[in-house]
Amino acid sequence: MIAIRTRTELDLLRKSGEVLKRCFLEVEKVLRPGLTTGEIDSLAEEYIRSYDAVPAFKGYQGFPASVCTSVNEQVVHGIPGPRELREGDIIGIDMGVLREEYYSDASRTYMIGEVSEEAVKLLRVTKEALELGIDKARSGNHLSDISHAVQAHAENNGFQVVRVLVGHGIGRRMHEEPQIPNYGPPGNGPVLKPGMVLAIEPMLNVGTKDVLTLKDNWTYVTVDGSLSAHFEDTVAVTENGPMIMTR
Ligand code: MG
Repeated sequence: MIAIRTRTELDLLRKSGEVLKRCFLEVEKVLRPGLTTGEIDSLAEEYIRSYDAVPAFKGYQGFPASVCTSVNEQVVHGIPGPRELREGDIIGIDMGVLREEYYSDASRTYMIGEVSEEAVKLLRVTKEALELGIDKARSGNHLSDISHAVQAHAENNGFQVVRVLVGHGIGRRMHEEPQIPNYGPPGNGPVLKPGMVLAIEPMLNVGTKDVLTLKDNWTYVTVDGSLSAHFEDTVAVTENGPMIMTR
């Protein structure tokens, strides 16, 4: 069952997403070579809590930090720590917020200083894939219209989409039905209805689509060590089209 949220619930989701939006703006200000991923985590946690909200990832299935920081070949779920960012890195920052009992979830991938042309293109295309996916989050469309839009744009640009990690419904829990793969033919899956809330999150790799987890049991990396990028927003299907809660 995919939950249908009332207008009041959508307002609460938006308030939750608002914290995330502002938190990204704060984090963006400090990103630079020499900053550690642990410092990003502390800043984000402090900021989220300053809004009487909770960093939703902290302790989630035992996750040891408030946000996920995934550098270069790390796809998602990287654990913040002493690692220092270096000129030329890309870093995916994934954050979740619980505020007044509603969850929001978003991710951005940033460039640290000057990065390779390939990295610039990867970030641009991943962001575009998210936009195209969001644009399919419309009443009457099928769920897999989102999946297909993401995959088509990635592959038309020479990138691969990760298969084993997917987007998800979100609301009273961080992960709800449905699962939202970033690949597949259009026209499949449930028909989208106003009030459904989806975390759409393309993960694109420069090389192989295949990923594995490190010994920390959290961090996903590309099997071939190629760069990976991740963008995500929490989006509501409404009568007036997609409403992005996290911007
Ligand atoms: Mg998510």
